[in-house]
Amino acid sequence: MGCLSRRRWLASVALGGLGRAVVARPVARREGGGGAAGAQPQGKLALEDYEPKSMLHVPAHKVERARFPAIDFHTHLSWSGRFGEAEHPHFNAKPGDVLPVIARKNVRAMVNLTGGYGKALEETVRVLRAADAERFLVFTEPWYTRVAEADYPRFQAEQIARAREVGARGLKLTKTLGLYLRERVQEGALVKVDDRRFDPMWEEAGGRGMPVAVHTSDPEAFFLPIDRFNERYEELSAHPDWSFHGRDYPTNRELHEARNRVVARHPRTQFVVLHVGDAEDLNWVSEWLDRYPNMHVEIGARIGELGRQPRAARRFFDRYQDRILFGTDAVPEGRETPQQIFGEELYEIYFRFLETEDEYFDYAPAPKPPQGRWRIYGLGLPETILKKVYYENAARLLGLGA
Ligand SMILES: [Zn+2]
Repeated sequence: MGCLSRRRWLASVALGGLGRAVVARPVARREGGGGAAGAQPQGKLALEDYEPKSMLHVPAHKVERARFPAIDFHTHLSWSGRFGEAEHPHFNAKPGDVLPVIARKNVRAMVNLTGGYGKALEETVRVLRAADAERFLVFTEPWYTRVAEADYPRFQAEQIARAREVGARGLKLTKTLGLYLRERVQEGALVKVDDRRFDPMWEEAGGRGMPVAVHTSDPEAFFLPIDRFNERYEELSAHPDWSFHGRDYPTNRELHEARNRVVARHPRTQFVVLHVGDAEDLNWVSEWLDRYPNMHVEIGARIGELGRQPRAARRFFDRYQDRILFGTDAVPEGRETPQQIFGEELYEIYFRFLETEDEYFDYAPAPKPPQGRWRIYGLGLPETILKKVYYENAARLLGLGA
């Protein structure tokens, strides 16, 4: 007997109200007691079509403006290619379209992390400064395409100095370092995160007061097979190229440990570990923060992780309130990544997560949770911590006034 027909049979027994009701009652109750045709499931439902709506009646707060002025430390208003190779930046949005949005949200400044280098960096700084020099800050990126050249360590350090002179406020490393960059750029062995050739670069950034924003590794599930046990199955099925399972990829642990060796080797340099480093393992991240006083973390694209462990996350914010930075990883054209689409809705979700104690709400402006099938809980942070996380911690690292 198939599952469906067995249920129909049990329901009909319940309707009959005969001696077998002892068996039938729980099933009849589950189906609303009616057993009418409308209560039957409509055949098999594909996972991708499943969009359950929560039946919880709990308070829901719309937070239209951040309670205190904020710096969005992690945005991508422009970029110049995975290896930073493009001569001209690609702008994802017109600065003039971005400004009114952040003004309404009480976001005082945005850090455009992917500013590139050389000519592309100069153009990025010029365009964004012309729009609003106070609100748009730009970081530079390493000149990866020259990594195999003999004088690269010295050259790269000089580029950091030059970038500072043309207006870059910090240095950004994408996960390219560790996961994409190879000895011959796209071929050969992967270049390690703690490769000695970058040592002069880290030092130069520290010496010039440029914080280093570093994205290392990715969610833990991206290193596991894309199978029925993978909690990001839908996300990885839609983007199999995001998987770092197999081939010659290092493990998640190896990547973070290599980055930690860099942080340890350059104590004068301030590192901002993007995406909370490993947001699935706050105990591990806490060990890093305890060990390295020059390490900070940023929360962009990880409120889905933080918000599903609200008690651990709240303790984490209490303990490291001076070293956590607000950021969204906003991309104005980010259709592939709904958790990052720049706009009012995105900011309101972050504010709700940080400021309210709302329960079980969506962490992304999307019909289905895009990074895993769960919902999140607000942290209800006190004002002193909100001020630090929204503004003060980033302002201190960027050398901005209060
Ligand atoms: Zn990013």
